[in-house]
Amino acid sequence: MKPLLRVMKFGGTSVGDATCIARVAQIVAKASLESGVVVVVSAMSGVTNRLVEAASRLETGDRSQAATLIESLRAQHTQAAEALIHGAAQRKQFAARMEEILAEGNRLCEGTALIRELTPRTLDSISSLGERLLAPLAAAALEELGTRSEAIEATELIVTDPYHGGAEPLMEPTHERSEARLRPLLEKGIIPVVTGFIGAPSDGVLTTLGRGGSDYSATILGAALHADEIIIWTDVDGVLTADPRLVPEARTIPEISYREAAELAYFGAKVLHPKTLRPVMPAGIPVWIRNSFAPERAGTKITPQGRSIGGGVKALTAISDVALITVGGPGIVGVPDVVGRAFSTTAEVRANVLLISQSSSQNDICFIVSSADARRTVEALRRQFAQDLAHEKVEHITIDPEIAIVAVVGENMRGTPGVAGRTFNALGRENVNIIAIAQGSSECNISFVVARGAMQAALASTHREFGLGAPCSN
Ligand code: ASP
Ligand code: MG
Repeated sequence: MKPLLRVMKFGGTSVGDATCIARVAQIVAKASLESGVVVVVSAMSGVTNRLVEAASRLETGDRSQAATLIESLRAQHTQAAEALIHGAAQRKQFAARMEEILAEGNRLCEGTALIRELTPRTLDSISSLGERLLAPLAAAALEELGTRSEAIEATELIVTDPYHGGAEPLMEPTHERSEARLRPLLEKGIIPVVTGFIGAPSDGVLTTLGRGGSDYSATILGAALHADEIIIWTDVDGVLTADPRLVPEARTIPEISYREAAELAYFGAKVLHPKTLRPVMPAGIPVWIRNSFAPERAGTKITPQGRSIGGGVKALTAISDVALITVGGPGIVGVPDVVGRAFSTTAEVRANVLLISQSSSQNDICFIVSSADARRTVEALRRQFAQDLAHEKVEHITIDPEIAIVAVVGENMRGTPGVAGRTFNALGRENVNIIAIAQGSSECNISFVVARGAMQAALASTHREFGLGAPCSN
């Protein structure tokens, strides 16, 4: 029988310092007694942010930034290494590898400051330093426990397109390379510790998969190696029924479907990178979300079907850093190109549209973009519709920044009558006014827009209405 294989990814907070990395090593060493394990690591929490910020300041030509950055990375990783690695030879080996990576980082930073230009490709290389430093450190921590291990850079494994800043994997060559490089190690009982977040085109320089991309790295490798399961270790217990800071009764959901997890990822419950589940969907590989700080807890299992019991509602999400834009006026009724022009404009300014609603009277269309995109979008719309505004075909283009989207998510809501009714009744009882509503025909998600001040009440009342706080109601 083929031995079991697990891919385990550890996020930034799970590898945030020496104590956390030691805990991770324990989890991996224990799992390796039962199955093959491939480890994927992020950078220590905060490191990638620091790299990205420093990189953009380098563009102003401030070379001192380079030295400060490299020095702080050296100090942080040396401190962790001293706590984790006890053998003199092993420490020296890690220090040598760290210096190679830092020297490369230093050259990239100096170069950026010198030519005062930060290309997407250089930004990718600079932002990859955190993962590249962490993999050898985590591998050394495993060796400390007597578990054989080898650090590997994912540029050797994950073949991507050349789109810097958000590259996409090419699964066939990734499969071939991962098999060729990782399988022999696994057969020898050596645990590969792979850098998350990065890859490379077959004949090009390092790319990143986008911020938060190491979840994606884990599922890409899991699919490439036909793993039996993927475990995303993080700092929360799994996928919760709602954000516990907003709804104290929120609890962990034992099992959800790919579809539900994707709805939640897109809609603000940022447990998973939105693309995470794509690679595992064709083979139906289960993905777990578990807490590395409480490994005794079961976590959430994401499976193709989820578990289909109860009234269908699984979780609630809310996003508040968004703005509502309305394009309206009686003049747009029956004018067929208004919708088309509005959304080509949002596409031109690369605004991410989160929700769209138009009533059948066609008096206005409203949609939601993230706050960061709002100004740019409205200005572009005013330019696009300048003539129509002058001739009063379009009467107004307005923006309301004080709003929030709340979404009720659950795959089995499909065909379950009454979910919308119960939701809106619950909101009515709490006097929460609904500004706009949208439900896709997939019926996995009912989203509504409320004033930001009413967001918490909306969440609390809906959570209560569907009994999401009660154990085993999902
Ligand atoms: N370190 C990268 C980031 O912060 C990737 C990740 O954490 O998933 O975006
Ligand atoms: Mg992350």
